[in-house]
Amino acid sequence: MGKMLIKNVLCAGRKTNVLIEGNRFSSLSAPSDVPSEKVIEASGLAILPPFFNTHTHAAMSLLRGYADDMELHKWLTQYIWPFEAEMTSDDIEKGSYLAIKEMIATGSVFFNDMYFDIERTVKAVDELGIRASLGVTFMESHTKAQQSEKLDILRHWQDPSGGRIMLTVAPHSIYTVGSDLLKKCASIAREGGFRYHIHLSETEKEVADCVRLHGCRPVEYLDRLGVLGDNVIAAHVVHVTEKEADILAGRGVTISHCPCSNMKLASGIFQYKMLKKAGCRITIGTDGDSSNNNLDMGEEMKFAALLAKVGSGDPETAPAEEILRCATAGGAEAFGIDSGRIEEGALADALLVDMNDIKMQPCHNLISNWVYSAGSEAIKYVICDGRIVG
Ligand SMILES: [Zn+2]
Repeated sequence: MGKMLIKNVLCAGRKTNVLIEGNRFSSLSAPSDVPSEKVIEASGLAILPPFFNTHTHAAMSLLRGYADDMELHKWLTQYIWPFEAEMTSDDIEKGSYLAIKEMIATGSVFFNDMYFDIERTVKAVDELGIRASLGVTFMESHTKAQQSEKLDILRHWQDPSGGRIMLTVAPHSIYTVGSDLLKKCASIAREGGFRYHIHLSETEKEVADCVRLHGCRPVEYLDRLGVLGDNVIAAHVVHVTEKEADILAGRGVTISHCPCSNMKLASGIFQYKMLKKAGCRITIGTDGDSSNNNLDMGEEMKFAALLAKVGSGDPETAPAEEILRCATAGGAEAFGIDSGRIEEGALADALLVDMNDIKMQPCHNLISNWVYSAGSEAIKYVICDGRIVG
């Protein structure tokens, strides 16, 4: 495989030459005359880890702006689900392309998706060159034939991209999937070595309904079913007690915090400080374009930091470095991807960011500028798996 040399780039505070061989960083202090197939002259650019978006619904890019300014259950039942019922596989493919192009343009090289007709999304991810974890989504409303089709997809899965795409078992939520299917999904995931992706404790209604139907709160309910483990990615996790936080931390569950979606749907304030203190693994996701209304992880990072501060009344909560880690290496680790950091030997995923961008100046602290000030217009190159993808 070929070599790519990134010359005179700012890396962890010093100007250096970064060499990529194949799909990994081979040197962060390479000589400037290494023969390479591709050379990027990167004076004035900084190399930073790219984003790992741990919860989204890519094809819902087609619903951007379709229904705004209402709460989750009305939004889902009266607008989103009826719209989706009309969507074809071709629509899903177009929506996936649109979303992935948006994610690349805003610095993401990975997304954890939950949607339908995933073979169309596989095609888009493969062609556009990024990474993804695509959910085979289960809902109680699907027919037996649809469910066995999904099991077949999992059983016969082969990654066409050579290591960039994985599948997850994705029961939608506890209010759309019954206890038997939730458990069945867990055993399929365990046996097949898949992650288990679910919406969890997103709204007060979800919690109240769970208490009424099952006599306990959502996290306790899933724990009682034996579902929770270190392969579980739980999206939202807004309404939880300290006891539930301890369960999530103890089971090694990864949380995908989606601040924009939670704020826009007024679902509630994510308890970052409490969950962090309990030892929970927190990563960041955008949720779909229909409830955000974009897939820009840079914005999501800033919102996550600000919401954590206002939610806890403590400005020291969620400092910039920590939030950047949630949005990058934290997400990569949760999916077992050896990336999210600029290090020799790691997978060659990176952003090259313009230090002369108006919102990057002056530079008292690069990470602070990146988290709190800059926008995606400062991104000049997006590199994934050793290739320039945007
Ligand atoms: Zn979602």
